[in-house]
Amino acid sequence: MYKINEKLTRVTARLRIAAQNANRNPEEIALIAASKGQGVAQIKAVYAGGQRLFGENYLQEALEKQGQLHALSDIQWHFLGPIQSNKTRAIATHFAWAHSLDRYKIAKRLSEQRPHTLPPLQVCIQVNIDDEINKAGVSCSELDTLATQIDALPNIQLRGLMAIPAKSNNAEQQKTAFNRLALALKMLRTGTRQGPLDTLSMGMSKDLEVAISAGATMIRVGTDIFGPRLTPSNAQPEDTQ
Ligand SMILES: *Cc1c(COP(=O)(O)O)cnc(C)c1O
Repeated sequence: MYKINEKLTRVTARLRIAAQNANRNPEEIALIAASKGQGVAQIKAVYAGGQRLFGENYLQEALEKQGQLHALSDIQWHFLGPIQSNKTRAIATHFAWAHSLDRYKIAKRLSEQRPHTLPPLQVCIQVNIDDEINKAGVSCSELDTLATQIDALPNIQLRGLMAIPAKSNNAEQQKTAFNRLALALKMLRTGTRQGPLDTLSMGMSKDLEVAISAGATMIRVGTDIFGPRLTPSNAQPEDTQ
């Protein structure tokens, strides 16, 4: 428990320093604790450290943990994983945000199935920013069309873009990819869009500083908050392919 809070504190400090280095207000950068492959005890410990935004990738795993954590009613749940059609109802019901939208069919179902007692589901379009084969996400050229389609849906609200760049240890290369996503959001904003396109969901444990320097407003951090994931089958961000 104690160790996990120390890790959370360290990540929060990294966020703040990266923001300062980029002349940005740290308050405009949200930290999502990516808790896939982590147990309920781990999540409780991070919650006790003050964390309220949590991200999950696998619906079944997420629902089980949400059930056990339901007393912590001010957790805001973010869906980060691939969204299959047969999962849309549960995602629309049990999450505040979905970051990984990349098809109109899914968007339409989420809007139709969002319970009317809840505010609109907040969504990001996932962009395959390095044009990787087999990676989830739309290409930049498809972005405008999908954004326009989403705008017409009543119960989901487009907030911005999400990407998982190709693996790289080269900060320049990482930065180029993040800059591309930032530019893509800027281009979307020049259209006549509904709602605030204020979200750049990018940056994970290894590259959060670079992402923040490129304008990230939400970073999704798992390993550096929780330590290694307990279930290796759920291990990698690449699973979102
Ligand atoms: C797992 C995951 C993360 C967190 O990755 P870490 O490297 O553990 O920080 C972020 N985003 C998505 C979409 C993920 O699947």
